[in-house]
Amino acid sequence: MPASRKIPVHGVPMREITLSGDNPPLRLYDTSGPYTDPDHVVDLKLGLPPRRREWIANKKDVKDGVIAYKIAAHAADIAKGHPRAREWDDALSKARFEFRWEDQFNLSLDPETAREFHDETLPAEGAKLAHFCSMCGPHVCSMKITQDVRECAEREAGLQQKAVEFKQAGGEIYLRE
Ligand code: SF4
Repeated sequence: MPASRKIPVHGVPMREITLSGDNPPLRLYDTSGPYTDPDHVVDLKLGLPPRRREWIANKKDVKDGVIAYKIAAHAADIAKGHPRAREWDDALSKARFEFRWEDQFNLSLDPETAREFHDETLPAEGAKLAHFCSMCGPHVCSMKITQDVRECAEREAGLQQKAVEFKQAGGEIYLRE
């Protein structure tokens, strides 16, 4: 890299680029790593330096970053009106309302974490069919209550319809005086 040199500034690797004319040199962060240090001995058998080794072994922050990108990209697709993005969200909402837990996990942006969070408190396989989760519990699960109310309304509507049909057919009910 002509017209530049690598210099440490308070231990941070910088690259100082010489500019033309009377312009002072420009310093930029140098991302080239140790391989551009003249004193660095490259020996692949040594593996990664201990500090990086730990970081690579714990890849969670990398994964979290990727998931954050996925969320942002999906939000952008929704904002742009991408029809498949909306379809995806609707499919996930439907799976959620119908308590299809496996479908919910698989449709999520991070299925592994979604499954882990669910299984933290309800690890049994049967819980993947349950009509509640551990967040509100079985007695106040608003989605279960909504389903029950809907089913009840449907049953009522069905009974009322049958009463109308019964009367139209001239049916009579014996009522004790
Ligand atoms: S228990 Fe609460 S969080 Fe869990 S499915 Fe029902 S409404 Fe949703």
